[in-house]
Amino acid sequence: MSIHRPRGTNDFLPDEVKGWQYVEALARDICRRFGVQEIRTPIFEHTELFLRGVGETTDIVSKEMYTFEDRGGRSITLRPEGTAGVVRSVIENKLYAAPLPLKLYYMGPMFRYEKPQAGRYRQLHQFGVEYLGSDQPSLDAEAITLAMTVLTELGIQNLSLQLNSVGCPACRAEYRKRLMDFLADVKDSLCENCQLRYEKNPMRILDCKVEHDQEATKNAPVMLDCLCEQCALHFASVQKYLQAAGVPFAVNPRIVRGLDYYTQTAFEIIESGTTIIGGGRYNGLAEQLDGPALSGIGFGAGLERILLALQSQQLSIPDRSGLDVYVVALGEEADLAAASLVMDLRKRGLSVDKDYLGRGIKAQFKAADRSGARSVVILGEQELAQGAAAVKNMQTGEQVNQQLAELADYLLQLRG
Ligand SMILES: [Zn+2]
Ligand SMILES: [Zn+2]
Repeated sequence: MSIHRPRGTNDFLPDEVKGWQYVEALARDICRRFGVQEIRTPIFEHTELFLRGVGETTDIVSKEMYTFEDRGGRSITLRPEGTAGVVRSVIENKLYAAPLPLKLYYMGPMFRYEKPQAGRYRQLHQFGVEYLGSDQPSLDAEAITLAMTVLTELGIQNLSLQLNSVGCPACRAEYRKRLMDFLADVKDSLCENCQLRYEKNPMRILDCKVEHDQEATKNAPVMLDCLCEQCALHFASVQKYLQAAGVPFAVNPRIVRGLDYYTQTAFEIIESGTTIIGGGRYNGLAEQLDGPALSGIGFGAGLERILLALQSQQLSIPDRSGLDVYVVALGEEADLAAASLVMDLRKRGLSVDKDYLGRGIKAQFKAADRSGARSVVILGEQELAQGAAAVKNMQTGEQVNQQLAELADYLLQLRG
């Protein structure tokens, strides 16, 4: 009986990991350019954090969490998303005492018990950014711009940035009343999920993917028509800053987040009908977690979905994994010298490999060829006696003799 990986998880084999490393490295570099620092929080947290920090009425918390009791009888949950842990950590470590705004990013696995299907996994991976400590609209625009920069620098085309405002607790109360009035007439025809949402989280009904429900709520009142003056000004200003940053967007009143601590800006970046990045402002979250009043704006990006977009748009992934040098040794004594030589070259920063199977000359050359190394260094007894080695350029086929003392410099030069 062999053991398989659990449903909904993936092994990322070396060829695939190249794509992951490329996307992760670019995201990290863009964060560096935006002055955003990495934070690493635990992969599991007390369940209570997600009940309060994500919301008991959300699908994530009510249906999809990996929750278990640990040996000490505590209820523990594998993190289903990144924001709650980051905000908890900011409060716990009093990071808000540092100059504001805090600009943080995270990257890593999240866990959701979902029905496995194409593009949906039980261990998924996200890159996310959280800005805390300012409610200025310029900061909303900057977070959104960072998200767009990652996708555009990867070369992803046909991105649609959809923007909305979900108001604040003050203006949302009035809107909620108007929405409930409208929904009272159609509610019985809506899907089972929406029936539940009607009581707990009615704004989410506008977000339902069931076609009938979308049709039935086509003429529902939207939050944008009910924004208070402050929220309307904030929304207008976010748009001005996005224009100033040269980021195209469309206003979509159906982008909603139903919980009270979500305020004002909500956005999604969509490619081929799939949301790759979703985010928004959450001015009430820190207080919800017993922290100080600390406004925030952030987003989460699905790395699986980004990689899928790269693949479907046939974008190339630069491959930096190839060897610089493969060392071929002729004879036992030369093999000993080769073992020492590969270490010298590695210390100088070259990626180097040799034979470890005791293969003959022909097989070693074949291995060198298959390795994709740019240069092959050949150590023979004759060369060794002269303190030299032959270097073959695998692109041109040209072969020269080099003194061992100058070999590393020569190879580094070849690499450019
Ligand atoms: Zn408002
Ligand atoms: Zn529905």
